[in-house]
Amino acid sequence: MRIFSGIQPTGQKHLGNYIGAIRQFVDGQDRGDPSIYCIVDLHAITVPWDAATLRASVYDTTAILIAAGLDPERCILFRQSDVREHSELTWYLSALTAHGDLNRMTQFKEKSAKQRELVSAGLFFYPVLQAADVLAYKTDEVPVGEDQRQHIELTREIARRFNERFGEILVEPELRVPEVGARIMDLQEPTNKMSTTGGTEAGTVLVLDDPKTVAKKVRSAVTDSGSEVRRADDKEGVSNLIAIMAVARGISEEEVEREFEGSGYGDFKGAVADAVVGLLDPVRERYEGLRPDEAAIEGALSAGAEKARAIASDTLAEVRAAIGVGPG
Ligand code: ATP
Ligand code: MG
Repeated sequence: MRIFSGIQPTGQKHLGNYIGAIRQFVDGQDRGDPSIYCIVDLHAITVPWDAATLRASVYDTTAILIAAGLDPERCILFRQSDVREHSELTWYLSALTAHGDLNRMTQFKEKSAKQRELVSAGLFFYPVLQAADVLAYKTDEVPVGEDQRQHIELTREIARRFNERFGEILVEPELRVPEVGARIMDLQEPTNKMSTTGGTEAGTVLVLDDPKTVAKKVRSAVTDSGSEVRRADDKEGVSNLIAIMAVARGISEEEVEREFEGSGYGDFKGAVADAVVGLLDPVRERYEGLRPDEAAIEGALSAGAEKARAIASDTLAEVRAAIGVGPG
């Protein structure tokens, strides 16, 4: 069972990333053979970026992942741009990707609408690079948040098309989204997902926020004019907090509803704030110990890249031979 997933080094990672993705990465660490996690700096340059900040953000994100429980000895943790095979495979796969399929991607529609100066072709091409990330490792399972479902479907479609034409070389990966918390919403705008690049500042809890800030953001979460702590389609804010509480406490959403039956929103939000602080604070503390040692982080990333390259280069050799590129 091969597990692969990626995470962007843009800005700081948030509670949605932690619950939807990072928590699953840690769980997958011992199920995967191997489990492979990639800091996707090539994806980050599809929207405006600053070179020095990008390099530093890769260290930030790597330190967050290690602080959250990834062990570079037990998984393959690396920086995407270190393994050039991803870029090469992107081009080969582009020849089998329908332009019309890329046109349907909702992430492109949403992100391109937010760009002020340039909608890059890279932003449009993002899902092909993502398909290459996953397919280069013959991945069986991709742990991600709900927002990545459409991209993984496209990845499967590209793999199918490749295999129909050139033989069973690539693997159609399965999506793995968590049962609870696959789509954590912005606390201030609970109809939008919590996001690194979109979203409101007050509604986005960062993994590295200090406990006071975390508590303040959770206590100020938008709820509704009612008073019942229960999930419902027209209670997006409260439903979101119930999911967050369930994950932070390691209990079911039903149990959260039972526990807070009859409580007001104020008490409930206070309890969620405490639970989220309890979840994130140990991660922040470990991060602070790890982040200053950039040489150690770089060492872990380059060791990871070597292991990743060993797998990806085998796939690339098969792909090149099959499609007729290069000498036979
Ligand atoms: P951006 O908005 O720039 O795409 P992001 O917040 O989605 O950034 P990514 O690095 O693209 O961050 O996503 C990393 C992982 O976190 C992906 O698996 C994604 O599905 C998951 N994820 C992102 N946002 C959420 C969310 N609000 N709830 C649950 N999972 C999420
Ligand atoms: Mg994203």
